[in-house]
Amino acid sequence: MTPERVRDRALGAYLGLACGDALGATVEFLTRREIAHGYGVHREIIGGGWLRLRPGQVTDDTEMSLHLGRAILAAQGWDLTMVADEFVQWWRGHPVDIGNTTRRGIGRYINSGSFAGPVAESDAGNGAAMRNLPVVLATLGDDAAFERQTLEQAHITHNNPLSDAATLALGHMVRALIHGGMIRDVRDIANRLAADHRVFRFSPYRGRSTAYIVDTVQTVLHFYFETDGIENCIVETVNQGGDADTTGAIAGMLAGATYGASQLPPRWLRRLDPAVKSEIEAQTAGLLGLSGMPLPSAV
Ligand code: ADP
Ligand code: MG
Repeated sequence: MTPERVRDRALGAYLGLACGDALGATVEFLTRREIAHGYGVHREIIGGGWLRLRPGQVTDDTEMSLHLGRAILAAQGWDLTMVADEFVQWWRGHPVDIGNTTRRGIGRYINSGSFAGPVAESDAGNGAAMRNLPVVLATLGDDAAFERQTLEQAHITHNNPLSDAATLALGHMVRALIHGGMIRDVRDIANRLAADHRVFRFSPYRGRSTAYIVDTVQTVLHFYFETDGIENCIVETVNQGGDADTTGAIAGMLAGATYGASQLPPRWLRRLDPAVKSEIEAQTAGLLGLSGMPLPSAV
């Protein structure tokens, strides 16, 4: 992999995450049938939805990722207090949307200063998995740091074995892709997740796309392996409805890391909130700079 291709895949993952979030939010909580009735195939970033978003506006998935990225860049490495404080700062800014487990975890940190609650079966929402990409990018050169930092950031809000397994597996997939893997190469990682925790088996697909991490992962993996391009992957995923901003974000992250930023539809990139797009570009360069990967000569 040339440094330019590493950057294209890393940037593709981050911009794909934001585009999937912005596209999917319009149809969050709708069923596949309701989307087909109201939109035909939903494939344009138009805002609206139950959150009444501006076209191109992103939600908690992208916002929490950006705050995690800010903490890593401010620390020029890993400082869990800075990560937790960034989550607090995000929460204090009255985010447009926030998950229940996420809110509870941030509240616990504010009240007690502790970086994790006890292991809880009910912490199996997708809120930790959806925001982990900055850790993945900053630790591309260091497996152990990737795993440790992933679990530390996740446990601030979600302390659950299924959330952990999914967040690690998705991160391992993105790492393998940015290191030059192809879609068939990461099938093994997905299969291993489903072998270790059989609830994640995604074939045949059950059609459930809720914010339960099991449903989210099944949906993302089903459509990711069924499609052969970034736009199709994200469009198919969000048209399943349910927690469509987060399934769209995670599918966009995987597809972006597979096909690269250069394959993202230009009309989506033009619609994406310009401040979000430019922070993603700057963070991608900064996080890759921390990763130990060779850098492109001109970023
Ligand atoms: P977030 O993870 O974003 O903070 P929530 O706490 O709202 O969001 O969780 C997302 C969804 O995951 C909720 O609908 C919740 O009921 C569901 N969920 C969490 N844990 C489990 C579980 N063990 N089994 C089934 N559903 C779960
Ligand atoms: Mg969201």
